[in-house]
Amino acid sequence: MSQTEIATSTPTPAAPAPADHLLAHLNEAQRQAVEAADGPVLVLAGAGTGKTRVLTVRLAYILQTRRAMPGQILAVTFTNKAAREMAGRIAGLIGRPTDGMWLGTFHAIGARILRRHAELVGLKSNFTILDTDDQLRLIKQVIEAARIDEKRWPGRVLAAIISRWKDKGWTPEKVPAEDVGDFAHGKAVELYKDYQDRLTALNAADFGDLLLLCLKLFTEHEDVLADYQRRFRYILVDEYQDTNVSQYLWLRLLAQGERNICCVGDDDQSIYGWRGAEVGNILRFEDDFPGATVVRLERNYRSTAHILGAASGLIAHNQDRLGKTLFTEPPDGDQGEPVHVQGVWDEAEEARTVGEKIEELQRQDHLLNHMAILVRAGYQTRAFEERLITIGVPYRVIGGLRFYERQEIRDAIAYFRLLNQPDDDLAFQRVVNTPKRGLGDKSLQTLYAVARSRGQSLLTASQMIVETDELPPQRRSSLRGFIEDLARWRAQSTTMPPSELAEVVLDESGYTMMWMQDKSVQAPGRLENLKELVRAMAEFETLADFLDHVSLVMDVETGPDEDMVNVMTLHSAKGLEFETVFLPGWEEGVFPNQMAIDENGYAGLEEERRLAYVGITRAKTRAIILYAGNRTVHGQWQNNIPSRFIDELPTDHIDRGDHAGYDIEQDEESLWESAMRRPSFGGRQSNYYRVVEARAKRFDDGSEVYVPVGQGRGVPAIGTRVFHQKFGYGEVQAIDGNKLDIAFDKAGDKKVMAEFVEPV
Ligand code: ATP
Ligand code: MG
Repeated sequence: MSQTEIATSTPTPAAPAPADHLLAHLNEAQRQAVEAADGPVLVLAGAGTGKTRVLTVRLAYILQTRRAMPGQILAVTFTNKAAREMAGRIAGLIGRPTDGMWLGTFHAIGARILRRHAELVGLKSNFTILDTDDQLRLIKQVIEAARIDEKRWPGRVLAAIISRWKDKGWTPEKVPAEDVGDFAHGKAVELYKDYQDRLTALNAADFGDLLLLCLKLFTEHEDVLADYQRRFRYILVDEYQDTNVSQYLWLRLLAQGERNICCVGDDDQSIYGWRGAEVGNILRFEDDFPGATVVRLERNYRSTAHILGAASGLIAHNQDRLGKTLFTEPPDGDQGEPVHVQGVWDEAEEARTVGEKIEELQRQDHLLNHMAILVRAGYQTRAFEERLITIGVPYRVIGGLRFYERQEIRDAIAYFRLLNQPDDDLAFQRVVNTPKRGLGDKSLQTLYAVARSRGQSLLTASQMIVETDELPPQRRSSLRGFIEDLARWRAQSTTMPPSELAEVVLDESGYTMMWMQDKSVQAPGRLENLKELVRAMAEFETLADFLDHVSLVMDVETGPDEDMVNVMTLHSAKGLEFETVFLPGWEEGVFPNQMAIDENGYAGLEEERRLAYVGITRAKTRAIILYAGNRTVHGQWQNNIPSRFIDELPTDHIDRGDHAGYDIEQDEESLWESAMRRPSFGGRQSNYYRVVEARAKRFDDGSEVYVPVGQGRGVPAIGTRVFHQKFGYGEVQAIDGNKLDIAFDKAGDKKVMAEFVEPV
C-alpha cells in the first residue's frame, strides 16, 4: 500500500480538542467529576473506583484548559510520596512540568503558607518545626517550670492532650470548659498556653501549629485570607474522609472564595478516628457547599470480582455507613482467584507460608514490588522480616522503621550488648540513664572525663567513680545500683536462657515500666515490640548468638529502586495497590485489635473493620489472609481464635486452606524436643576486658598510682596540697590505686579520683 492511498482512503482526523485525550481513559461518571471543573464537587465512592485517578486527571484538565496556572491550584494528598507521584503523573498527562503548584500534605502546605506570613502570628519566617522529641522536651520544661510533678503528670500525656486540641482547632482560649480534663488538677489549659508562649519565644512551631496558626492567620487577617481565596482558584483534596477538624476548617476558609473545591473520599475507609479524623466532615459536604455536584463511582477497576465481593461482604457488617454499590467488570468475565484464607499453626509457620508463596510467585516472574505484607501492628513485621532475610528476599518497610531499628528495640539490645561486652561504651551511653536514673549530663560528663583520661571504658570508670565522692551521694548510689544490676545480670546470663534473661533485665532495669507509664500513642506498640523481642530471643541458645544474629539482620541494606517486597501496616497502605496482598494475623485480639475495642467499643470495632476493608481492597489479583492457632505472647503459648472478620467474609468469595501442611503430632513433638534441648549453659566464655595501658608511679612511701599512658596530670603523694574543682583545697591523706583520700579544708574528708585534683 502506498502512502498516497493511505492519505486518500483515511481522511486526516481533526486535531483533538486539547483536553480530550485526558478524558479518554475515564468512564462516564469519572468524566463528569472531571468536567464539572467549576463549583463544589464531592466524589464519594468505594475503594479502587478511580477517585485518585479522577483527582489527577482533573488537575491536568484544569491546567490543560487553561482555567488556572499551576500556582493557582491547591492540591492536598495524604502523604508526601503520594504528592510526588501525582505531580509526576500530571506532568506526564500534560507534557510539561507542574512547577509552582501547591501540591502536598496539609502540613507541608500549612508550613509553606506560614513561612510567608510568620510575623503576623508572632514568628519569624525561619521558624523551626519541632519534631515530636523536641516537642516533648519542651513540654516537660513547661511542666517543671509550673512546679508540677512530671512523674505524676507526665509530659507525654500533656503532649497528646495538646495535639488533640490542636486537631480540633482549639487554641488555649477556645478549649471548652467541659473538655479541660483533670490533668494536673485541671491545669492543662494553662500549661498549653505556657507551651505556646515558649514556642513563640523559641521561634518554633509544632506539627499541629502548622494548621492551627494558619487558622489564626486567616481569621485575624482578612486581607491575607482574601488573598489566598483569590489565589487558589481550584482546590482538590484526596482521602477527605480522614481530615480532622482543623484541616476541615482550614479548607472551608480557603474554599469560600472561588468555591471550586473537589474532595474525594470513602467513608468506608476512614481509619484515623483515633487520631482525631472526623468522618462527619465528608458527610457534611453538601451542607457546607450547597449546590455541590456529588458524584458516585461504582465501578472498581482495581480488584477481581472475588476480592471485591469479599471486601464488600465484610464491610456490609458495619452499621454506621452510607452503603454503596460496587461492581467490577473484568474484560473476559473472569472472577479471578477467590480470597484465600489460610490457617497456620503459629507465627513461624505464618512467616514461612508467606515466604514460600512469595518465592513461588517470584519463580513465575512476578515482581516483588507488586507484593505486600500488610500487618495490623508494627511488632508483627519482625517474623516476616527475618523470614525474608533468611530466604534472601529483599524487602522494604514502608512508613516505619525496620524492627531492629526501632528505639525500644535498640535500647533493649544496648542492655544485652553491655552484658555481653562490658566495654561497649555506645551501649552504656544509651542505657545508663534510660530509664531515668538521675544521671544527667553533669554526672555523665564527670564519667566521660575519667574514662577518657584513663583510656578506660565508661563502665570501668564508673566502677571507680562510685568509690569516691565525685558524684553527689544520690547520683553515686544510683550509678552504683546500675553497676550492681549489670554485674548480677551478667552472672545470670551464664545460666539463664536469653529470653528469660531479657525479661529479667527489662523488668528489673525499669525499662518496661518506663513504657507502661508512658501515655503516648506509641507506648503500647513499643511494649508489644519488646514482648516480640523477648519471644524472638527464645530461638537462641546464648546471648552472644542472638547479638550476632542482630548485627547480621541490621546489616541488610537496600536501595530505594530495587525490586522488593513491601512490608507495612494497614494504616500506611491507604491509597496504594498491589497485585498480591498478604494479610496475616487475622485473629481475635490481634485483628480486630483488642485495645481498639476496649477503648472505643462498637465504634472501635467498626474502625477495625474498615481497616480490614482497606486491607483487602489493596489487592488487584490475589489476597491471602492468614491466621495462626497459636501465638507466643510474653513467652507463653496462647491459643488464638480466628478473627470474626473471617466469618464475615462471604463464603462464595473465599477458599479455605486450614492447617495445610501441618501435622499436629510431628509439630508438637519437635516443639517438645526443642523445649527439652533448651540449655542451661554454664561455663560460657567469660567476658573480656580491654587492657588499659598504664604505668605505675611509685612514691617514696611505697604507694603506687597507675597513670594511664598519655595522661599529663601530676600525681600527688601523701601530704601533697591539692586543688579539686568541686571541693576546693585539701591535703592527700591516703592513696588507693587511683583513688585519693583527701582532707579538704572546707568540704572535709572525701574520696576523689586522682585526675580531678591538681597539686598546688
Ligand atoms: P482508593 O479508595 O483505594 O484510594 P481510588 O478510588 O483512589 O482507590 P485509584 O487508585 O484512583 O482508585 O484507581 C484504582 C485503579 O484503577 C488504578 O490502578 C487506576 O489506574 C485504575 N483505574 C481507575 N479508573 C480507571 C478507568 N476508567 N479505566 C481503567 N483503569 C482505571
Ligand atoms: Mg485513592
